[in-house]
Amino acid sequence: MYNKILVAVDLSSDSRKVIDTAVDMVNRDSSKLHLVHVVEPVAAAYSMDIYAVNIGELQQEAINMAEQRLKKIGNELDIGSDEVHTLLGAPAPEIRNLANEIGADAIVIGSHGHAGWKILLGSTAIKVLHGATCDVLTVHVGDD
Ligand code: AMP
Repeated sequence: MYNKILVAVDLSSDSRKVIDTAVDMVNRDSSKLHLVHVVEPVAAAYSMDIYAVNIGELQQEAINMAEQRLKKIGNELDIGSDEVHTLLGAPAPEIRNLANEIGADAIVIGSHGHAGWKILLGSTAIKVLHGATCDVLTVHVGDD
């Protein structure tokens, strides 16, 4: 049914379930899958200049680590490196923009992530849904 699926991976322990669902949706044809992880800007989360922490270095380290972990997942699934995207920015708009850019016909995303199942409003999945121009499938993750 779908020819190109963008899978939003937050690198949490629940990522596996989200990825497995996408893999099933394309009958294990990894050529139809793209993976994306968005690293949030460190400076937006913490104001550490007063402690003389090198934000630029910290940011780059976060990007490198995320890139490595996402690549490893991509390799395991036989997904080409051009189809594995590590981006910097706000997760929801970056995921939506990338879906448009690559012409994805579906985005697969977890219902919950790092913030846990108790936080419903404001989750990335809801934000991605608003304004998405393709199908969005949320994979139920969490305790209930
Ligand atoms: P959350 O908004 O943290 O509850 O996460 C819900 C889902 O959004 C996760 O299961 C992921 O599929 C996706 N997601 C959250 N944060 C990111 C991120 N930084 N990069 C890619 N996908 C993400």
